[in-house]
Amino acid sequence: MLSERLRNLTATIRFSLMLWMIIVVFVLVLVTSLGVRQVYRTQLLEKFDQALLADVKKVSQEIQIHYPDWRRLEQSLDDIAFAHPVQAWFVQIYDKKGARLAAGGHHADIATPIVDEPPTTHDRVPYRVYVARLEEPGLPTLLLRLGGNRQSLEDALALLDQTLLVRSMIILLLAPIGGYVLARRATQPIAKIIATAARLQPSRLDERLPIRGTGDELDQLSRTINSMLDRIASYIDKNREFVAHAAHELRSPLAAIRSSVEVALNRQRSADEYATLLGEVMEECQYLSNLVNRLLILAEGDVGRIDGRRSTTRLDDIVRESLDMFEAVADLQGVRLEASDLPAASVPGDEDYHRQLVRNLLDNAIKFTPPGGAVHLGLAVEPAKQTVALTVADEGVGIPPHDLPHVFERFFRGDRSRQRHQGRQSSGLGLSICQAIVRALGGDIAAASTLGQGSTFTVTLPLTVEAAAAGVGQGVQQSVSA
Ligand code: ADP
Repeated sequence: MLSERLRNLTATIRFSLMLWMIIVVFVLVLVTSLGVRQVYRTQLLEKFDQALLADVKKVSQEIQIHYPDWRRLEQSLDDIAFAHPVQAWFVQIYDKKGARLAAGGHHADIATPIVDEPPTTHDRVPYRVYVARLEEPGLPTLLLRLGGNRQSLEDALALLDQTLLVRSMIILLLAPIGGYVLARRATQPIAKIIATAARLQPSRLDERLPIRGTGDELDQLSRTINSMLDRIASYIDKNREFVAHAAHELRSPLAAIRSSVEVALNRQRSADEYATLLGEVMEECQYLSNLVNRLLILAEGDVGRIDGRRSTTRLDDIVRESLDMFEAVADLQGVRLEASDLPAASVPGDEDYHRQLVRNLLDNAIKFTPPGGAVHLGLAVEPAKQTVALTVADEGVGIPPHDLPHVFERFFRGDRSRQRHQGRQSSGLGLSICQAIVRALGGDIAAASTLGQGSTFTVTLPLTVEAAAAGVGQGVQQSVSA
């Protein structure tokens, strides 16, 4: 239990942030302390060495005064040592060969023989020593060894070490607390996001994450999640609306079937009456099956099952086949069906979907065109864009401007009085199916219309890779007219 809580705690961003903060502070404190110590030490040594250098001048003057009375010289050097601030200050004077001539101050027992070398400072523990060469007019060449106890340096460094250590300890103790507070502040909005996300239900998607207005990454995350929630909510709303519409559409033919059956059953009927009633039932069943098929296509589109990767279709063949199929209907309604040259155009997607697409457009065009009018079908390959454009233009009643933006919405039906056939065959799904198919296959569909003059629907689809590569459609032209 405890170990699990510990594991949960150590898995949090807050804990990682805190840990990182401690590590960074630790490294910074260590590097800074070492740096400060080094600079301080160098400065102390420089000061010490400068003092020794100044002493060389002083000793040289004393030698000039007292030479060759070494005893008097040693006395005055002892006087200098007595008043000198450096602990255990001493001076030793040698001739060129290294034989000691005089000494003053502290009795520094340095075993190393003096050598004639350029002036240098070095440590001869526990002393810091300066060796100089003295060449003054009227004096023989002399070697000087000057120095003092470096303990004062070590003491000052020890004091610094102590101060640095105490301060570092305080900083290191405060680091986890500071780290915890900072990490808590930084991760608090995440906790809010988690809490709000946990409260969200598909039935209650109205809640949104708070935006603090800081514009930081967490604000951006909240904004992204909020806009995702907006999209999910609108998707769910549309789906609910769709299901309600679908149920409503299914209810009417079912009610009609039920009433026909009830009429048939409530008393004995003649064979003709039964035939009429069964005919009505059959018609409603036909409509129901058609409606269910349309709903299925839309559902397939919604779940991404319509895709162009599995098969390809020759769109020109489908157009030709549909023209043949609608020829009789158009004739019956006194509508002329025309088509320009149909170039070969291979497009991605199952041919059933393309059949549905062309037929829905043709069906509408014929339905809304009065006798004597014409419906024109065109197919044009655009090699530069690697697309093919299918146009279905009619000379029908047209679509009012206020309806035009809605014609691709599911279950949208315009003013029925403009329709010549006001039967139940209209479900308001035809164009939304066309749009679902075209978009799933990577294309687009657009409608243009002038009231009283006619409408034009334009479908743009990408050509298959092979067709585009082979330039299909550029040379093959066929003429078909219905
Ligand atoms: P349905 O499947 O019932 O035909 P659609 O989705 O195909 O429904 O069409 C929706 C509405 O768009 C129709 O009710 C009609 O008002 C309008 N519409 C579609 N095509 C045409 C057209 N060619 N001319 C005029 N109006 C049209």
